[in-house]
Amino acid sequence: NSDLILYVNLELVNKKSDRRYIVEEMLGQGTFGQVAKCWDAETNSYVAVKVIKNQPAFYQQAIMEVSLLSMLNEKFDPDDQHHIVRMLDFFPWKNHLCITFEMLGHNLYELLKKNNLRGLQLQFVRTFSRQILDALIVMKGAGIIHCDLKPENILITPKVNSAAGVKVIDFGSACMEGKTIYSYIQSRYYRSPEVLLGYPYTTAIDMWSFGCIVAELYIGLPLFPGASEYDVLSRMIEIVGGQPPDDLLREAKNTRKFFKHVGSIYPGNEAHNGLRSSYRILTEDEVEARDSKKPKIGKWYFPRGRLDRLIFAYPWKNLNEGNLPETEKEDCLALVDFLRGLVEFDPNKRWSP
Ligand code: ATP
Ligand code: MG
Ligand code: MG
Repeated sequence: NSDLILYVNLELVNKKSDRRYIVEEMLGQGTFGQVAKCWDAETNSYVAVKVIKNQPAFYQQAIMEVSLLSMLNEKFDPDDQHHIVRMLDFFPWKNHLCITFEMLGHNLYELLKKNNLRGLQLQFVRTFSRQILDALIVMKGAGIIHCDLKPENILITPKVNSAAGVKVIDFGSACMEGKTIYSYIQSRYYRSPEVLLGYPYTTAIDMWSFGCIVAELYIGLPLFPGASEYDVLSRMIEIVGGQPPDDLLREAKNTRKFFKHVGSIYPGNEAHNGLRSSYRILTEDEVEARDSKKPKIGKWYFPRGRLDRLIFAYPWKNLNEGNLPETEKEDCLALVDFLRGLVEFDPNKRWSP
């Protein structure tokens, strides 16, 4: 990709001394490799080193991560003001590409877990959301789609003046808008309807994932924790209401995995989902008949219901609309309104950052 080569000068990287990074502990494992907390003997500070698996496909994808992130860091956020992780260095080591990042804190999933999955106070949801949006504005400006936004890929920053903050990490699945290669992207719970359905995608898919994250930060559990893609889609339809627009369904590659064509739009077929549509989602029986060889999908015991009910009456605090404090009630209304702009089925109507 000629736009990006500028930012990767592999010649620079072979001059590192052997003992610069001393591994202290493992911070995380992902699909692409392992991340270690290391002492950097040259700068006398801690860094996080991502050691990519030593297979060619991972190596190539990691070069993409390095390219996109150095472009974001150097060209679009030179003063480190937009909540995107800083890449410090990269070098090959025994056929592994290693990428060095500034050392950050826990990821947001770990934070939610520490809070017994009961959700964060609204003030933190608001602060973190604003900062993630700041990062998304920069990414959109650079034409970069993250493709894997989820709580695990948002990290708490070490406290500066005791103000809470976050940064977006893991550009290992990112790509340039208009140069999309892969169709199987995003983590399932945070996968946008257009990706599920196999339709051309844009930076709007990150806004869908962002909506899922904001809701999860408040309620403490994933918004669409589907055990399969069908399960995710049927949860979306149930919780958000509505369904993807007909023209998207008509053109998407995977529509028939999930929907049944019920003829052209005519008054009277609103019966399906209460919508005027030429499509309706398959029933569970139809899916089971289709996948009869597959094992039954395990159910998550998560309260299903409309988005506003989920936000107002999520069970962990045993609150309902009636006994929410007046100020929090207003905030909840605003939060539901905000979420509706994000978990919008139509990518063209979905809010941009
Ligand atoms: P995925 O499976 O999500 O694609 P990955 O293999 O691409 O993961 P990362 O998401 O980059 O790897 O890192 C994995 C985990 O390591 C993160 O979720 C985080 O907990 C930890 N980690 C990554 N970078 C840092 C950092 N700079 N500071 C502290 N911890 C980090
Ligand atoms: Mg990750
Ligand atoms: Mg990744």
